[in-house]
Parts: sequence; structure tokens; C-alpha cells
Amino acid sequence: MKRLYNTRKRVLVTGGAGFLGSHLIDRLLERGDEVLCLDNLFTGTKENLYHLHNHPQFEFMRHDVTFPLYVEVDEIFNLACPAAPVHYQHDPIQTTKTSVHGAINMLGLAKRLGCRIFQASTSEVYGDPSVHPQREDYWGNVNPIGPRSCYDEGKRCAETLFFDYHNQLGLDIKVARIFNTYGPRMHANDGRVVSNFIVQALRGEDITIYGDGSQTRSFCYVDDLIDGFLALMDSAEGFTGPVNLGNPREFTIRDLAEKVIALTGSRSTLAFKPLPQDDPMQRCPDIGLARLELGWDPTVALEEGLERTVAYFSGSLE
Ligand code: NAD
Ligand code: UDP
Ligand code: UDP
Repeated sequence: MKRLYNTRKRVLVTGGAGFLGSHLIDRLLERGDEVLCLDNLFTGTKENLYHLHNHPQFEFMRHDVTFPLYVEVDEIFNLACPAAPVHYQHDPIQTTKTSVHGAINMLGLAKRLGCRIFQASTSEVYGDPSVHPQREDYWGNVNPIGPRSCYDEGKRCAETLFFDYHNQLGLDIKVARIFNTYGPRMHANDGRVVSNFIVQALRGEDITIYGDGSQTRSFCYVDDLIDGFLALMDSAEGFTGPVNLGNPREFTIRDLAEKVIALTGSRSTLAFKPLPQDDPMQRCPDIGLARLELGWDPTVALEEGLERTVAYFSGSLE
């Protein structure tokens, strides 16, 4: 539908009340776009969007992506899906439906509108990887019937659908494979390491290290990741991805615990707990493709990002 008066770009963000979605929406509004946020508020909250109350270019719609959606927009960011294991394992069937039926509906919408569509995929498509660091041409090592399968296989099938709509129907798609990301508005209780350590340190509780803390992860600050989303969405037609977005600087979990203790000035001590089954020893993205095609490289150092995240949790735990 042609716009009669309004010349702003209208952008649909599914999962917009969540951690990443709400940051993305802030950036889209800042640059002058109009945003339709769609969310069923399963893990997202209205608190993440309170500051946008009465914003003239912002609209919220409560809707589940597993049901068809008929709206008129110019671009779609498809982020709807619980991301933390405790959340996506709460109702595994619904998790797969969200990824797969959600992708079908949003692709159907993009097809009808002839508009560009972005998919928030994940490093979990690599499963428990046997190559390090992971490049986009690695096919992964995923268990199809385990407790993580609803998330991993749902996201893999969503990628398949995106590429089939692209190859068969010429849809303009952009697929990002997102690695561990942290920052303000991440969930305090979802068991992820950054939020766990910060909350434990602020409360003076033991910092729970699983295993001996020698396993490594690479953590991307949310603002850097959103820069990557926008660079990918605005890249030339024909560059579809999948493209890894994450921070390639690796830290051990013990390093992370020590940094959090130093930053918070906490008197918490380290408590070593058993390592969960199938916990990867190492996860690190190869971001050569993002550097080459998008000119993107994360810039926020771990200490700086942690400082901002600690400030957020200090405020929200009061
Ligand atoms: P989040 O849980 O904070 O946000 C997900 C949002 O989707 C929530 O607001 C939730 O209410 C909404 N949602 C869930 N099911 C829905 C449904 N059926 N219909 C409509 N809305 C629904 O998680 P996040 O960290 O912001 O993740 C956003 C996206 O990025 C997800 O697709 C996730 O898989 C992907 N991702 C995130 C990370 C990360 O480190 N945070 C890493 C890899 C991939
Ligand atoms: N769909 C939607 N909004 C639209 C167009 C389609 O939600 O504006 C949904 C519709 O429910 C359909 C799905 O997207 O089931 C896939 O659409 P597509 O056109 O690819 O398939 P078809 O309608 O031919 O089954
Ligand atoms: N971890 C930990 N203590 C915690 C939470 C997590 O030592 O309180 C470890 C976990 O075992 C894993 C790493 O931190 O090795 C990252 O865990 P997270 O769940 O954040 O992400 P993922 O394993 O999906 O990368």
C-alpha cells in the first residue's frame, strides 16, 4: 500500500519487547523510522518499552507470531523467540512453533508486501561445534532430539525457510547468526553467566562458577550487536548472509567472574559447581565475513560493557 502522507520507513520488529528487540527499536526510532513492535510478552516486558510511551512514531501490538499477521510495513526484523534455555525449555513445542510457524508467517507477510526481512538466527545452529572458531560454512553438530533441539532445530529450519523463500521466490532476506550478547535489559533470572555473576556480586552472594572456570566464551555488548543488525539490514540486495555477529575476543569464565568482582567492589567469593552436561569448552565466532561485507567490528571492551550492565542492574535491583 502506497503511503499517502507519511514518508517515514515503517519497520516491524517481532519480539520487540525483549532484550535485543527493545534496543533495536530505540535505534530505529532515533534514526527517524516508524516502528510497529509485535510481541506476545512471553519473555519480553512492557517495562523495556515504558520510555517509548507516547512516542509518536512507536506502536505496540500484542500478537503471537505463530498466527498470521496482516499489516502494512516496509521492512521486517523477525526476533520473536525465547532465547535462554530456561525460557525456551519451558514449552519446547511452542518454541519450535514460534521459530517455524513464526518464520512462515513473517515470510508470507514479506512475500505479500515485497519487503526486506531480517532473521535473528543464532550461534546455536552450530550446536556443539567440532571446529573453532566457527565460520558460516560450518554445518554444525546438533542433536535433533535433545533438550536444546526445540531451539537449535527450530532456528535451523527457520534459516532453511528463509533461504527457500529467497531461492524459490526471490525474497530479499538477511540472516544474522548471533553469538552471546549482554547489556542492560537482559533478564536477571534466566541463568546466563553475565547476569548471574553481576546479580550475585551486587547481592554479595557466592559467584557460581560451573566447572573450573577455564571454559571460554566471547561476549558482545548489545550496542555493538545492534550496529551489526543495522549494517546487515542496510547492506546491498543480494548479500543474504548467513553472517556471524558476535565479539571474537575470548575470555575464560573465571576471568569474567574476577572482572565482575573488581567492577562491583563486591566481597563475593568464587564457588565452584559441577559443569552442566554438554557445556561447550569454547565458543568463539569468526567474524571475517561481517568485517568484509559489512565493515562491522565490535568496539565496546568487556570492562566498559560490564560497567554499563552493572549500572543497569544496580538500578533495577533496588
Ligand atoms: P528475549 O527473550 O529477551 O526476547 C524475545 C522476545 O520474543 C520476547 O519479547 C518474547 O516475549 C517474544 N516472543 C517469544 N515468543 C513469541 C511469539 N510466539 N510471538 C511473539 N513474540 C514472542 O530474547 P533476546 O535475547 O532479545 O533474543 C531476541 C532474538 O535474538 C531471539 O530470536 C533469539 O533467538 C536471538 N538470539 C539472541 C541471543 C542473545 O545472546 N541474546 C543470541 C543468539 C540469538
Ligand atoms: N501470511 C501472513 N500475512 C500475510 C501473508 C501471509 O501472516 O500478509 C501467512 C499466511 O498465513 C500463510 C503464510 O504466511 O500461511 C505463508 O504465506 P505464503 O504466501 O508463502 O503461503 P500460502 O498462503 O500460499 O500458504
Ligand atoms: N556459567 C557459570 N556460572 C553461572 C552461569 C553460567 O559458570 O552462574 C558458565 C556456563 O557453564 C557456561 C558459560 O558460563 O560455560 C556461559 O553460560 P551461558 O548459559 O551464559 O551461555 P552459553 O553456555 O549458552 O554460552
